[in-house]
Amino acid sequence: MNELVVISGKGGTGKTSLMAAFAALAGDAVLCDADVDAPDLHLILDPSTRFQTPFQSGNTAQIRQEDCTGCGLCRDLCRWDAVREDFRIDPLDCEGCGVCVWFCPEKAIDFPPNVCGEWFVSDTRFGTMVHARLAPAEENSGKLVALVRQEARKIAETEGRSLLLTDGPPGVGCPVIASLGGAAAALVVAEPTVSGVHDLDRVADLASFFKVPVMVCVNKADINPETAETIRRTAEQKGHTFAGSIPFHEDFTRAMIQKQSIEEYAPEGEAAAAVRALWRRIVEQMGSGLEF
Ligand code: SF4
Ligand code: SF4
Repeated sequence: MNELVVISGKGGTGKTSLMAAFAALAGDAVLCDADVDAPDLHLILDPSTRFQTPFQSGNTAQIRQEDCTGCGLCRDLCRWDAVREDFRIDPLDCEGCGVCVWFCPEKAIDFPPNVCGEWFVSDTRFGTMVHARLAPAEENSGKLVALVRQEARKIAETEGRSLLLTDGPPGVGCPVIASLGGAAAALVVAEPTVSGVHDLDRVADLASFFKVPVMVCVNKADINPETAETIRRTAEQKGHTFAGSIPFHEDFTRAMIQKQSIEEYAPEGEAAAAVRALWRRIVEQMGSGLEF
């Protein structure tokens, strides 16, 4: 089973529109939305949830007032000043280090796990999708990315699918690192702007560091053909595969509003043709096991 991860140096490059089109073109892939901080593939694929599971990560200390003697040791030891004057712990300040729990002489501090979000297995018109939602201001999104990828892999193996399509997070942080390990290839979606070139460099280097073969495509290429050409040249100089260019086209937005991929909304259009050419190149690069 091959996994293609679609990533970008920053948000808003059109990753999800491409992912939805690839899902339509692949037909029988398992889909994974690993952009858990800002998932949006569900807006196009309109999944129906098969089941949902809470995502637990980290712990928050809670003092049981009836057992606390007010000795003050926890307040002295807490490096984050999370223990208030009245010996209640402010959950927003508690970092979950567990020091107070360990040292409290009365064992008066509970340490329950945090529920930071939830993850879902859903049915879509293009196959099973695993996705998640991290609660506002919660951390550990890298752990949640690893979890949804792991579950999506299990499903792909159980269902005998040859392709796992993962919509990765943007940037170069922990969630992106968690989305890359073990992938067969990464497609980096870049915009033809100065910052787009810089973002592409960073994320492509990151994928190469993890020995994941990199393919590059430029979205909205016609808004700045010169920079799009710079991206193509730079990608090839660095040994990446330049997989293609997609023009800026309002059909992408119109398709999104209709909860459709570009392949469903305007299959005869210029934009859909460019995406199909891109997909063909990706399939060629990834080799056997994939069908187009
Ligand atoms: S260390 Fe334990 S007993 Fe002492 S103030 Fe904190 S919670 Fe209360
Ligand atoms: S768990 Fe750590 S951060 Fe939270 S209150 Fe206790 S000592 Fe402070």
